[in-house]
Amino acid sequence: MKVLVINSGSSSLKYQLYDMTDESVLAKGLVERIGMDSSILTHKPTGKETVTEVSEILEHNTAIRKVLDKLTDKVSGVLESIDEIQAVGHRVVHGGEYFKASSLVDAQAKEEIRKLIDLAPLHNPAAMMGINAAEANMPGVPQVVVFDTAFHQTMPEKAYLYPIPRVLYNKYKVRRYGAHGTSHYYVSQKAAEFLGKPIESLKIITCHIGNGASLTAVEGGVSVDTSMGMTPLEGLMMGTRSGDLDPAIVPYVMNKEDLTINEVNSMLNKHSGLLAISGISSDMREITDGRANGDPNATLAFDMYEYRLRKYIGSYAAAMNGVDVIVFTAGIGENSLYVREAVCENLTYLGVELDKTLNAVRSDDPRRISTENSKVEVLVVPTNEELVIARDTYRLVTEQQ
Ligand code: ADP
Repeated sequence: MKVLVINSGSSSLKYQLYDMTDESVLAKGLVERIGMDSSILTHKPTGKETVTEVSEILEHNTAIRKVLDKLTDKVSGVLESIDEIQAVGHRVVHGGEYFKASSLVDAQAKEEIRKLIDLAPLHNPAAMMGINAAEANMPGVPQVVVFDTAFHQTMPEKAYLYPIPRVLYNKYKVRRYGAHGTSHYYVSQKAAEFLGKPIESLKIITCHIGNGASLTAVEGGVSVDTSMGMTPLEGLMMGTRSGDLDPAIVPYVMNKEDLTINEVNSMLNKHSGLLAISGISSDMREITDGRANGDPNATLAFDMYEYRLRKYIGSYAAAMNGVDVIVFTAGIGENSLYVREAVCENLTYLGVELDKTLNAVRSDDPRRISTENSKVEVLVVPTNEELVIARDTYRLVTEQQ
């Protein structure tokens, strides 16, 4: 079965086409600047030359049509006909409390995703555009939705409720939902597989640190706590997001600076984090370069980032009364040996011992970076959210047939 995986943003659409007989990627690509002038389609067929095309793509419907054209193109295509695509899997950011697992798309699923727009005003409308566009271009092809929040639905009440009036949960479902669930799930499973141990026996802390960043405490294979909250703003310091702060700062600053709700939201989501402290960039590569060159602001940004990350690891070790495995993943987790080193050097109280030589090795495979004597296994596991979406899509569609 060939499965097309779609990750639809408000002005972008990423795709990967899988052949599920061997889980190989036949092609992948990205449409950027949808709805703006000069939209860019980058198509990467496996084993063939990458194609880049600039044109006007005003909405997601056209974006998918162009992608399907590329997938069946005589030169850059990998399919004879679009009929070969037998299922489509969509990434959806927010599944609320309704979606505890991936689901086939039907009228009710669409209605539930629509209802959640209130909780994910930027992300869920984009996912809906992707679903509708795929339906329009591939009528009759079954579609599946895979949620960033679903893996965290196992959190106990004590972890997902906020200590604020209960009526806000009852009326508006104000609670912790978390994010990056597909990634936390994938890397925790991979870690257990790599170690050759049953996941049921392990206490794992997964650190998904990319532009957005979150930590999850995975006990016995399920998420018991995660650092992102009702929205992806809570938790770790990130590229441009503040992460945790005293909530009283918000009304205080709004009052002093005469800010609107939109302005303060934008400040905390887009103008905070590494960018705000370094004054240079939200990109960890530029922060570590600045630190190496003795830039004091870049050094402070790096130190704050590492310090906050390490405090969260400590708090999740406390939440689970121990930790067997720490996993680093996503852009920074997979690539920044400096962040991993700084964090691990300060976790000796947990029995963490980093092997600096292993930490400097680059690889696309899961690998251990702790010493043989380390009481906690520290691993780097490249994430693969698209593969989880393809697998769930394949499973649900096959079960239904
Ligand atoms: P997203 O959250 O957008 O999916 P990624 O997981 O791709 O992001 O992570 C992107 C971030 O990874 C970049 O902002 C950059 O800070 C970091 N990154 C990528 N490569 C490196 C590297 N070699 N060293 C340090 N940081 C890196």
